Amino acid sequence: MPGSISIEELEDLTGARNQPPPRGDRDLWQGDGALRAAAAAFGGAAEALAPYGAALGREEMRAAGREANRCTPRFTPFDAGGRRIDRVEFHPAYHDLLRLGIGAGYSAIAWEGAPGGHVSHAAMVYLHSQVEPSTCCPMTMTYAAVPALRASPDLAGEWADGLLSRNYDPSDAPAGEKAGFTMGMAMTEKQGGSDVRANVTKAMRDGEGWRLYGHKWFCSAPMSDAFLTLAQAPGGLSCFLVARWQPDGSRNAIRIQRLKEKLGNRANASAEIEYHGAYAEMLGEEGHGVRAILEMVHHTRLDTAMAPAGLMRAALDEAYYWCTHRSAFQRRLIDQPLMRAVLADLTLDWLGALYLGLRVAAAFDETGAEARAFARIGVALAKFLSNKRCIGVVGEAMEALGGMGYVEDTPLPLLFRETPLNSIWEGSGNVICLDILRTLAREPLAGEVLAAELEAARGLNRAYDAALEAHRARWPALPCEGEARWFAESLGGLLTASVLLRHRPGAVGDGYVRARLSGGRGQVAGALGGLDEAGILGALGEGA
Ligand SMILES: Cc1cc2nc3c(=O)[nH]c(=O)nc-3n(C[C@H](O)[C@H](O)[C@H](O)COP(=O)(O)OP(=O)(O)OC[C@H]3O[C@@H](n4cnc5c(N)ncnc54)[C@H](O)[C@@H]3O)c2cc1C
Repeated sequence: MPGSISIEELEDLTGARNQPPPRGDRDLWQGDGALRAAAAAFGGAAEALAPYGAALGREEMRAAGREANRCTPRFTPFDAGGRRIDRVEFHPAYHDLLRLGIGAGYSAIAWEGAPGGHVSHAAMVYLHSQVEPSTCCPMTMTYAAVPALRASPDLAGEWADGLLSRNYDPSDAPAGEKAGFTMGMAMTEKQGGSDVRANVTKAMRDGEGWRLYGHKWFCSAPMSDAFLTLAQAPGGLSCFLVARWQPDGSRNAIRIQRLKEKLGNRANASAEIEYHGAYAEMLGEEGHGVRAILEMVHHTRLDTAMAPAGLMRAALDEAYYWCTHRSAFQRRLIDQPLMRAVLADLTLDWLGALYLGLRVAAAFDETGAEARAFARIGVALAKFLSNKRCIGVVGEAMEALGGMGYVEDTPLPLLFRETPLNSIWEGSGNVICLDILRTLAREPLAGEVLAAELEAARGLNRAYDAALEAHRARWPALPCEGEARWFAESLGGLLTASVLLRHRPGAVGDGYVRARLSGGRGQVAGALGGLDEAGILGALGEGA
């Protein structure tokens, strides 16, 4: 018939040409040479990370991540008879992801006594964030609660074994009936989150224990078995452990008001709660609540410093794969000079965050005042810088996929929605920068160990040496508050460069100095010349 075409021609015209093939199962450990090298450099346990990376990379787990984000948690306040149950139900895929993480030792490995436990833990955060970042939250809080509990040996004795269990037990039951626990934290109130001293929740003595009255504006993972929380006792702001069940086996009076409707982190529930005389036990000393909970916050900060490295890795891995299999204007995207400039520039931030995060995690593994001081300043610098870079990196990686990057069939939207969060919680950007100034002002040792770490790379790259001198000339003393971000960005960049120059010399170390410390470039990704793009992009292709 004139004007018609054959079925074969139609199939040819409508076929999926120039579309990258489905990726299928991947191995997030074997396929990531940079992770393997960094973990080896800082003492991570390959035997724990290899099976975890292989399991997480299966298509089945990615599908679980998508499902858990699509079918968000559901809140049921009452049972059929009108009795309060305050239950939040999650999609089975959410539980699958937690079972995998807790089973692999995400929450426990740092405390099990093997060398490099925190590095292995941080590498697990990096791996898990690539597949489904919001399930990291309950596991991170469980990991971080363990050292905080040391403030009260009795409470530690009661809870530590369950927190360190590798059995994930999501049942809604008293702790004594469970094979493993998770723990959350509830600090933020309506009138103030960063400034926890503004907390008004009230604690009143009740025999051996306490009763809490008040609210918490954010309480993530509300089905956790217990929460560390802050409340005003007669002796001042104090830290308490509030279990979901009371010692007599009845439900504790923790009322979930509603779940937040969030931009991302959608598989995880974040609730508003009220304490209606909830039974609580004091952790640490009365009036010293901030000190007690800061031990938990110090450890959650490690995870919020590490997660952006995972988000950047996942986004760049997708972008690299896409550009390797997609052509425009008769040439593969990965062979287009401008795309190479963009991806190489972004890759530096991923590698910087990965190496810096694991270097800081290694300080958590070491003992002694110097390591502790480095962990404190290093984790703040890494949290600030890596998260700020992450938002731009994932956004640019999305653009490398063109229109498909904006579509939920690819992981980019899920990753992108997560990017601002690790910068906001556990100390928002400004708060972290002010904390950096405070630490350097109050703990001279932190300044000394940081200076030694920066000096360790002197002589490896002339532009690095010049940038270090310029930083010191600009700030011979600590800056005023208004310059805290500028100061922290500069210091964080120098610290990252110092780690990369020593552990990833050549294209990456020198490239980082060229791109982040030397000036003479534009402000958007790819707006520079002089990078060894092949050497840098090799990190994305390694092991693939
Ligand atoms: C998804 C999600 C889950 C959460 N889960 C939990 C949870 O489980 N438990 C919990 O306790 N909290 C949780 N939070 C709360 C979170 O930790 C707080 O939102 C955060 O600490 C900031 O507190 P805020 O919202 O009160 O902001 P504010 O403290 O009002 O800060 C607002 C802004 O002001 C800046 N700022 C504050 N002080 C200064 C200053 N001196 N100078 C300059 N700038 C300043 C901050 O950096 C921030 O950018 C969650 C938040 C989110 C988004």
